[in-house]
Amino acid sequence: MTEAWGPDDDKPRPFPGPVRVRVPAKINLHLGVGPLRADGFHELSTVYHAISLFDELTARRGDTLALTMEGEGAGELELDESNLIIRAARALARRARVPAHARLHLRKTIPLAGGLAGGSADAAAALLACDLLWGTGFSKDELAEIGAELGSDVPFLLYGGTALGTGHGEAVSPILARPTTWHWVVAIADGGLSTPAVYRELDRLRDGPWPPAALESPDELMGALRQRKPEVLGAALANDLQPAALSLRPALADVLKAGYDAGAVTGIVSGSGPTCVFLATDGPHAEQVASRLAAAGVCRTVVAARGPMPGARAV
Ligand code: ATP
Repeated sequence: MTEAWGPDDDKPRPFPGPVRVRVPAKINLHLGVGPLRADGFHELSTVYHAISLFDELTARRGDTLALTMEGEGAGELELDESNLIIRAARALARRARVPAHARLHLRKTIPLAGGLAGGSADAAAALLACDLLWGTGFSKDELAEIGAELGSDVPFLLYGGTALGTGHGEAVSPILARPTTWHWVVAIADGGLSTPAVYRELDRLRDGPWPPAALESPDELMGALRQRKPEVLGAALANDLQPAALSLRPALADVLKAGYDAGAVTGIVSGSGPTCVFLATDGPHAEQVASRLAAAGVCRTVVAARGPMPGARAV
């Protein structure tokens, strides 16, 4: 790492640290999944939306690369070379040709394997935190390019907001809608669902008597975002993975029903599940739906959240 920049040099400098980065969870307002391709991937057409459920990553200077954590998944999540935070730090260090030295600490609120892209969020946080700590000075677009190699949702979690995702979800373009805050209720289940298993289940279901798979574009959802009416947005929410998540976890039907009974505008499985998200009309309504849903006892935790939120940010 170059530490000897002159006083007039405007290159970014390594930061003595600590650097603290907050990163949101994502939900998919539209998740269109195309047929399984010969290369083993599904083409996606999705609308991402960042919500106010955050993980926080602190990066300090160190002589090696080390990760500790607290919160959701502590004791369960491996903190070794398989962790997306370590993989992100190493990928950045390789690209910048600097030693991958940092002490990283994760405070996790986003549930593991919950369909909220917590792992990708942590990778995005690690890219930004290490970039600041090491003074490597990559642009957000450059970090997103490195992030796309780690996971399809990583680029979006660097940008945040509401955005269109294509390809495997890694090609992100922001949706410029009039600023509106949407209010959500997030129902977190006990235990996760494996994303690859949910895709496999979708392929299995589509092999049966279902209509042939087609990639639905999110035109209706994009129109609904412009109208700023919760009932219009609610009617446009769509998730092709929902039948597969319900097939693997039938109890999610009870969660969706309990959300409607609690007065939500509408409810949907988030990404590959098992988290379900419900749309509310405003903040007080979200709090009311959240407390009624919690009382129904059909999920582990219920939280109210807002969106859109910015992507990974130093705080
Ligand atoms: P997605 O919506 O992107 O499919 P998800 O929310 O369902 O993701 P994640 O919590 O992002 O699931 O992670 C899925 C798996 O990735 C975990 O079960 C874990 O094995 C692995 N993983 C690696 N690093 C992390 C991390 N920092 N946080 C969470 N999971 C991680």
